[in-house]
Amino acid sequence: MITTNVYASIRDIKKYALDHKVPIMVDEGIDFLTTFIIKNQIHTVLEIGSAIGYSAIMMALSHPNLKITTIEKDETRYLEALRNIKKLDLEDRITLLFKDALEVSIEEKVDLVFIDAAKGQNIRFFEKFSNNLNERGFIITDNMNFHGLVGKEEEIKSRNLRGLVRKIREYKEYLEKQSNYKVEFLAIGDGIAIAEKKGHN
Ligand code: SAH
Ligand code: MG
Repeated sequence: MITTNVYASIRDIKKYALDHKVPIMVDEGIDFLTTFIIKNQIHTVLEIGSAIGYSAIMMALSHPNLKITTIEKDETRYLEALRNIKKLDLEDRITLLFKDALEVSIEEKVDLVFIDAAKGQNIRFFEKFSNNLNERGFIITDNMNFHGLVGKEEEIKSRNLRGLVRKIREYKEYLEKQSNYKVEFLAIGDGIAIAEKKGHN
């Protein structure tokens, strides 16, 4: 039965992520994202950071017509994502690009941009890919709380980690200043930010 294969494949992808320390989105975040897509009648998604294709696959499975373009710059992960997308027979709805998102040029306009890549680059991703948003669209960002570390910078010993957490806080402040977007922060999964583009009146 087809359903059995889908469940088994998803389970295998999650196991691979665990075994290879690939930071895929937590269940609570995935549930939120897929529900959000249905509720807001999202038809097209641009995802920054495919990793092994897990979140893109979960989004595609949540809605039979959804089209996703997803970008990954790590070759090993890209190849694994390609394999997983093929395995689930989703090649016609998920376009996977082996590119650095900051160097790629994307023309298409989408209903949702999902940012889940290098946490320190979020402002750059937002600025760049807001150009790919439809008149009314959303930019969702994952890992806004970064394992509960955001807001506890002075307690963090590692200099690199502290820098990264500071960048996430700066991104939060940047989002709050966006007058063209209605911004919301949700304590779901590892923390999610939703920026909704305000349409013209
Ligand atoms: N969305 C995935 C998880 C992504 S993990 C899921 O939930 O299943 C973040 C990924 O972003 C990593 O695989 C990393 O290689 C990739 N990444 C980081 N910076 C990037 C960039 N500039 N362009 C493309 N991919 C990037
Ligand atoms: Mg993430």
